[in-house]
Amino acid sequence: MADEEQFDGLDELPSSPSPDTIKVGSTTMSLPTKLKGKKIKKKGHRRENNITGEVTFKKSSSEAIAGALQLGIAHSVGKLSERPDRDVLMQDFEVVELIDFPTKGTTLTPPHEFGEFTFQSYAPLAMRYFRDIFDISVEGYIHSIIHEPLTAIGNPGASGSLFWITHDDEFIIKTVDNKEAEFLMNLLPGYFMNVQQNPRTLLPKFYGLYCVKKERKHIRVVVMNNLLPRDVEMHYKFDLKGSRYKRKANSKEQQKKSPTWKDLDFERIFDSKRISLVKESYNAMIETIKRDCLVLNSFSIMDYSFLIGVHKCSVGEIASMESMSLSASNSRGNSVFKRSALYSSPMEQVFTGSQVNLQLSQHKVDQNWGGIPALLPDGTQVLIYCGIIDILQCYKLLKRTEHFFKSLYTNGEEISVVRPGFYAERFQDFLKNKVFIPQSKSSLPNPSQILEQGLEEELEDKLSKEAAKSNVDHNKNGTYF
Ligand code: ATP
Repeated sequence: MADEEQFDGLDELPSSPSPDTIKVGSTTMSLPTKLKGKKIKKKGHRRENNITGEVTFKKSSSEAIAGALQLGIAHSVGKLSERPDRDVLMQDFEVVELIDFPTKGTTLTPPHEFGEFTFQSYAPLAMRYFRDIFDISVEGYIHSIIHEPLTAIGNPGASGSLFWITHDDEFIIKTVDNKEAEFLMNLLPGYFMNVQQNPRTLLPKFYGLYCVKKERKHIRVVVMNNLLPRDVEMHYKFDLKGSRYKRKANSKEQQKKSPTWKDLDFERIFDSKRISLVKESYNAMIETIKRDCLVLNSFSIMDYSFLIGVHKCSVGEIASMESMSLSASNSRGNSVFKRSALYSSPMEQVFTGSQVNLQLSQHKVDQNWGGIPALLPDGTQVLIYCGIIDILQCYKLLKRTEHFFKSLYTNGEEISVVRPGFYAERFQDFLKNKVFIPQSKSSLPNPSQILEQGLEEELEDKLSKEAAKSNVDHNKNGTYF
């Protein structure tokens, strides 16, 4: 994942007694000139101390928020499991459950060191039902969330949200503002209906919506599926919207070890060429995107992105992919699939149940989290990991105003904030015609052929060396000519 973000906004905490000094043990030291006045980097509600690296959000440290989330989620989900199963009713979407977590603990909550807080769980029963669709058990969910500390990850986005990832790479937790949380609450019934009808989707899966209320501040988070497994090296990451306006990674992002590139960078990096997918993959991918865009448009959602991670395959990976039988059983044993949630690997998100697709989806899901095989324009064989992210934006007055002002000095169709219908069309067109291209199967290099070819060359080389040697021997012995 991305390194910790270097934030654009540099500011000082107003409560800092002397912004140009730092305390090391009992000694107060002066800051280097370069850092004077720039002790705290600020973005949205996020603050990062340049010296200590400490990250806070609404004045709570990232660690304290993560700890409070672990306690709160474990309690809320555990308690829920004691209740008998029943169908979800409309009013379940409006329920908010509260529980206090005093530091000393109570009969229901353990003592802790994260500062007193109240934990709120939104629509818990509906969320449980949603997790059920994806086969996420209570034990599995709690294990993912609390077994090890959550890891904070850098966010290249503009909002200043905090992100954490669970130890097993299953879930991403992201802070959202009250408007986004409210929007998700309103969205839930329709969204549920949609996902239930069609669990194979590239839309984000929301497994929980929670709030840690601390010192009268609300820190709201969503728990979502993680699209980019950390144990698969991503050689490229793209956040694409189909817009050209300001869609270029800034210089700070570019300097990172693993930058998240944008639309104009994609064009530049691949010289306006596209990523090839076998025809079945291409069709399934474009169909899924089309269906998802229809849903997003129906909710007047826009400004979402298509996140793509590209992993370049090693020769060994290509070989093991090929050696995995394409006619393998279609059953989904948990021992075979690394993802514990159903429909969560890229293959499963995109492909429907046809035989060809199921055969394709058997591609080494265990080692590579079900990445979709593809070819870069230069012929490099890759696996791609993708999904639609950042959908909690509604086309409201604010966006319209933004569009009006931006369109005064640029082509209105090229900026990323446009009407939802237009946004969806442009998004699909871009992915269909500028990002992916269908390839007939035969034009994709067959991994076994590559290997065989390599072996053949090696054999030919060996044989010709042996022949040359025996020529010499024959000549030496005078038996030739
Ligand atoms: P902005 O305000 O710029 O839209 P944001 O703070 O709302 O940004 P997102 O756009 O949701 O954040 O995500 C920012 C980055 O975080 C993405 O570009 C991606 O690198 C990473 N990210 C977001 N969601 C996921 C996910 N589900 N799985 C993996 N990585 C993700």
